[in-house]
Amino acid sequence: MNLDAYRQSAETFTEELMREYYRHHAGLQDSFEIEPIYARHADLFTRDAVDALRALDSRATDDGDQRRRSRMLLDFAVEGYIGEATKTVEEELARTEAGLTIEVGGERIGFREAPVVQANEADADRRAEIEAALLAATRERLGPRHRELIECQHACATDLGWASYAAMCAYLKRIDLEALSGQTAAFSRASAQTYPRVLGPELRRTLGIDMSELRRADLPRFFRAAEQDRHFPAGRLTDSFTETMRGLGIKVSEQRGVTFDIGARPNKSPRAFCAPVRVPGEVYLVVAPVGGWDDFATLFHEGGHTEHAANTDPELPFEFRCLGDNSISETYAFLMQHLVENPEWLARKLDLDDPSELVAHAKAQRLVYLRRYAAKLAYELELHGADAASLDALADRYAGLLGDALQIQWPTQTFLSDVDEGFYCACYLRAWALETQLRSHLRERFGPAWFESGEAGEVLRALWRDGQRLDAEELLEDLTGERLDFGFVLADLGLS
Ligand SMILES: [Zn+2]
Repeated sequence: MNLDAYRQSAETFTEELMREYYRHHAGLQDSFEIEPIYARHADLFTRDAVDALRALDSRATDDGDQRRRSRMLLDFAVEGYIGEATKTVEEELARTEAGLTIEVGGERIGFREAPVVQANEADADRRAEIEAALLAATRERLGPRHRELIECQHACATDLGWASYAAMCAYLKRIDLEALSGQTAAFSRASAQTYPRVLGPELRRTLGIDMSELRRADLPRFFRAAEQDRHFPAGRLTDSFTETMRGLGIKVSEQRGVTFDIGARPNKSPRAFCAPVRVPGEVYLVVAPVGGWDDFATLFHEGGHTEHAANTDPELPFEFRCLGDNSISETYAFLMQHLVENPEWLARKLDLDDPSELVAHAKAQRLVYLRRYAAKLAYELELHGADAASLDALADRYAGLLGDALQIQWPTQTFLSDVDEGFYCACYLRAWALETQLRSHLRERFGPAWFESGEAGEVLRALWRDGQRLDAEELLEDLTGERLDFGFVLADLGLS
């Protein structure tokens, strides 16, 4: 195999795919044609390519960059190989979902916009009606396709010679998923008692309900934090981000290759997103400013991804610029996102003198997310270790694990749809731990207003330059000598 040619084609493929994604979701074109892109680069994802890269990976003797690169390329090829095998069912799912509507009280709502409608719905019973319709549609219209997708992913993993899809992902991503699940389960046990004491008062204050009345349908409304809207005007959205970056010594408007796409277009995605078309030379931060806390949090999250990509060293090999451990980029995204709940930042950038309600809300929300993802990881390990015959038994297991974690009656219907491809849930969990440790490092070195320190900006830029060469464990070891430790997250939430 000609490795240089493979890398070049892989990078062109990534660029074309990301450009198509950007143009479609930014509302610049209606079509979303990824099939011709796959067809042009069909050689990347053949069984032969996977086998050749696997042989290369098994021969890698070097303990450093060579081994990292070969594993990243193998991960890329396997992901594409499975993507080829599942593309028909995935396209069918996307098509059905996009055209699917539910009927609630005589009104038709698009399946995909339903969570947004729930978030903006003040009436709890109507939120529950939307939920019931969503769950029925998920089971009846999408259920068989979701099952097909998971069975196909499992079959690919075993055809390639791994014991399970879970074992395959753990190997390719160099993450000990079982050990991570042990750590996050310990986090959930340690926070089980305090969880209702953290969430309960916030539910009462914002939604006017007790823990015992909480339903899953209420979560989008709770996360929306509508009562905070007055502090987060749309007009301050992009400015507060560029001002924050300036505090770190980064002039966003002068960054080559960074485009802030803020224009209004009919089919533009309502949620901000980052599209790293070429890393570092062509990165889009797409925003449709609405305002509100959630909108700020999303923009800062995507802004973290954008700065990471834009500051990546162009001299790095393709693997380290475009592939690798996504826990790293998610860490920088959460670092920026969490500024929007940081009392120092809120006082300085948005003149919010008493952020105590917002801080309490953000803490409760973060705890919900952590406990939900810990349960998801435990569940997905069981799901992706299971054989086809035992899939049905997992519906109750799913509802049990998620329900226990969140102390809510949890539905069974989403047991095959509420699943992150390739154990992306593990990236979020690792990122939450790494971000907490990175943030406390920055605070210790540069003080509580570290985001106004050019030196802190230097530290971040040095990290960003390295792309995703290191994984989360390696990066932290290099930076502070620590191990990833969810005890820091407990302490950060004031729960230890
Ligand atoms: Zn992200």
